[in-house]
Amino acid sequence: MFTVSEKNKLNERLCEGCNVVVSTHKSPDGDAIGSAIALAHYLVQKGCLCTIVVPDGLPKNLQWIPGADQILLYTENEAEVKRAVESAEFIFSLDYNDLSRAGEIGPLISVSDALKVLIDHHEDPKQFADFVFHDAACCSTAQLVFNFIDEFDDLNRIDMKIAIGIYVGLITDTGSFRYPSVNARTHEIASYLINVGLKHEDVHEAIYGENTIDQLQLNGFAISERLELLQNGQVALIYLEKEDLKRFNAEKGYTEGLVNKALSISGVKLAAFFREDKGLIKISFRSKGGVFVNALAKENFGGGGHKYAAGGASRLNMNDTLSAFRTIIDEYV
Ligand code: 5GP
Ligand code: MN
Repeated sequence: MFTVSEKNKLNERLCEGCNVVVSTHKSPDGDAIGSAIALAHYLVQKGCLCTIVVPDGLPKNLQWIPGADQILLYTENEAEVKRAVESAEFIFSLDYNDLSRAGEIGPLISVSDALKVLIDHHEDPKQFADFVFHDAACCSTAQLVFNFIDEFDDLNRIDMKIAIGIYVGLITDTGSFRYPSVNARTHEIASYLINVGLKHEDVHEAIYGENTIDQLQLNGFAISERLELLQNGQVALIYLEKEDLKRFNAEKGYTEGLVNKALSISGVKLAAFFREDKGLIKISFRSKGGVFVNALAKENFGGGGHKYAAGGASRLNMNDTLSAFRTIIDEYV
């Protein structure tokens, strides 16, 4: 995806001892963290000095990933993140298409003189990078990181740390290989990773098999008490207020995947999940069967994302946000 001259330029400058920052988006998910860790391990293998910076914390089910404990969080270590970004010769932006998605780190990157490389799969990337490795049809940034390593004929450098990061990104952004964006290449990559020794069952177990009772009960409560069907059963919404989250001692990541449960109801083509979070309502949208949610998120909730998975936010209270959603939804389904 790079031209020969871009590749040569990158190869030449991304050299031994080079200072690199790898960044990803706020509320990082498996693809964000997996990709960042995989790319950082790869660059370290090439001799670069690499720091991963993330705006805020990781959900528990990603904290076990080898290398996750080295990540610098802006919320915990503002000064060190600033220092890392300011002294970087290279800044990689992974799994986001707009610096505004990088929270407080966005403005730091924006004023930096470092060479900037974007590796991402969200539509319509903003032009802030010098090198762009982008494909909106690709299922995950992790797949692009694998392709990036392949571009430089470095697949032989893929060790277990890199393999785990890439695999985490693949499975978390594809619903474990089931979304339409999965292609033969995705499975080829999984095959390659298993051939270098990746224990795929251990990764699935660590990501999806370590829930707490509170977490399951919160999800059960949401489905039994906070789910509503609209548009003759084609739209499902779930909402959780601050008090609900508190009642079940909710932590980061507790409601990951809940919106997909709503989408799995027979006949539902669009699902929305509204969660009260730090004075605003965070919204997750999922869809299928030719119904697209990125426009809905962008036009009504200041967000964006992919055709079938998008997100946004509302500054109205929960009731007014839900009312607004009920009013506009027939335009989209
Ligand atoms: P999730 O529902 O898992 O938080 O996000 C689903 C998708 O929507 C992700 O690809 C994410 O990048 C995108 N997304 C979520 N929240 C926002 C947002 O506030 N703004 C934008 N532009 N994209 C978002
Ligand atoms: Mn992604």
